[in-house]
Amino acid sequence: MVSKASLMNLKRGAKDLVNRSLDRHVKLAVTGLSRAGKTAFITALVDHLLQGPVHHQLPLWQVAREGRFLGAQKVPQAHFHIPSFKYEQSIKALRGDAPHWPEPTEGVSEIRLKIKYRPDSLLWRNINQTAELTLDIVDYPGEWLLDLPLLQMTFEQWSEHMMQTLEEPARAELAKDWLNIGGQLDPLAEADEQQIARISQAYTDFLLRSKSELGLHHIQPGRFVLPGELQGAPLLSFFPFVWRQGLEVNPEQGPKNCAYKMLKSRYEHYQEHVVKQFYDQHFVHFDRQIVLLDCLTPLNVGRQSFQDMQIAIEQILQSFNYGQTGLLRRLFAPKIDKLVFAASKADHVTPDQHENLLSLLSQLVVNGQREVAFSGIESHSIAIASVKATQAGSVDYQGAPHPALTGNVLGQDELITLYPGEVPADLPQQSFWQGQGFDFVNFAPQKIEPNKPMPHIRMDLAIEHLLGDKFL
Ligand code: GDP
Repeated sequence: MVSKASLMNLKRGAKDLVNRSLDRHVKLAVTGLSRAGKTAFITALVDHLLQGPVHHQLPLWQVAREGRFLGAQKVPQAHFHIPSFKYEQSIKALRGDAPHWPEPTEGVSEIRLKIKYRPDSLLWRNINQTAELTLDIVDYPGEWLLDLPLLQMTFEQWSEHMMQTLEEPARAELAKDWLNIGGQLDPLAEADEQQIARISQAYTDFLLRSKSELGLHHIQPGRFVLPGELQGAPLLSFFPFVWRQGLEVNPEQGPKNCAYKMLKSRYEHYQEHVVKQFYDQHFVHFDRQIVLLDCLTPLNVGRQSFQDMQIAIEQILQSFNYGQTGLLRRLFAPKIDKLVFAASKADHVTPDQHENLLSLLSQLVVNGQREVAFSGIESHSIAIASVKATQAGSVDYQGAPHPALTGNVLGQDELITLYPGEVPADLPQQSFWQGQGFDFVNFAPQKIEPNKPMPHIRMDLAIEHLLGDKFL
């Protein structure tokens, strides 16, 4: 006969086995270009999970629908040297009496949750009624991924590439100041730190203006506009050398201590200690990734901004193309196996336009998605609103009902009802830009009553795609 003690031992052994075979930990990375909605997404996601099993409204998340989600808790993060995601501050902003959008984070940050659930698997259920999943959520700027190609370019090649981007007249116009003061630099003279810092500041100002005035995203080096913890570090004091034409001596042959060599060595330092380090310390550890894309703002801003976003997206997707470039595989060993592309802020358009928004998103990522699939990564495209700020309804227009949105205009405290326009289902052609285009306003978040779930559009589908299989 088997004794009670050996039965206990057997049970404990089986539990250890299942514990080991089930994946108890997942690292979810959230990225997107700045203002894409990362902070809003993470705040809403954490809020939904912390609200627990009673007050959520997440029917598309299977575990919640089946009543197996038992709750979540915020626990100390794993890495003490990485800034914490400012959840408390952000949720206060969204759930406060005067709701407002939280401050976006500008660098990498993380937050850890423990999620309790009732497993579905028979074996596990027999041994233990509940299971836990540790979820690390990491927020980082998509702009940092735009730096990946720098690893394949020498300083000379990068300078040449940046010179080509100045063929675009609007960029060239904004670059004037930088080009003027940079043109005074003698690349062969002894490096003057102060002069290089001044020119580098002018270059940074040019990048910042390209972003704010032209709505451009494809900006290199990414840390110049989102420096994170490197703010003010000499490591960010360099710029591409675009004044080569007409020089009698190749600056590559200049003396060791010359200005050109200082620029080149800082660029190489940036490649090694900023770009590579990000992939090494963070990227390789991600299991799941969501890329948020705000397709609507560039539609509002205009053609150049939209096309630039397309380039930026293609560039960002290179980081998930492990197979074909070979570069990532050679340098790092990334392990992301699921990738979700989410068109954010879907509450800016009427529900009848969501299908178009999704179709537009799918076309924006189609090339990248093909390569991602080739790398063995499962991917999904969805349209979401992390925090729904509008109410969809309809208005009477010329005797017929017409879809409309109602919301508080950001900064005006004025409730308006409007129809923002049609989202093109395909990549917009010339006629779209010449026509009426698209016109949406930004809305303030709605007041949320305590214990009521945060209003959203398809956040549950995002959770299902990203984590659904972890709750078996
Ligand atoms: P981040 O820079 O990627 O962290 O972007 P944020 O999360 O800070 O979002 C930038 C801005 O986009 C916010 O201040 C809001 O104005 C807007 N936003 C973000 N998510 C939503 C959303 O789900 N709905 C609406 N209506 N606006 C959003």
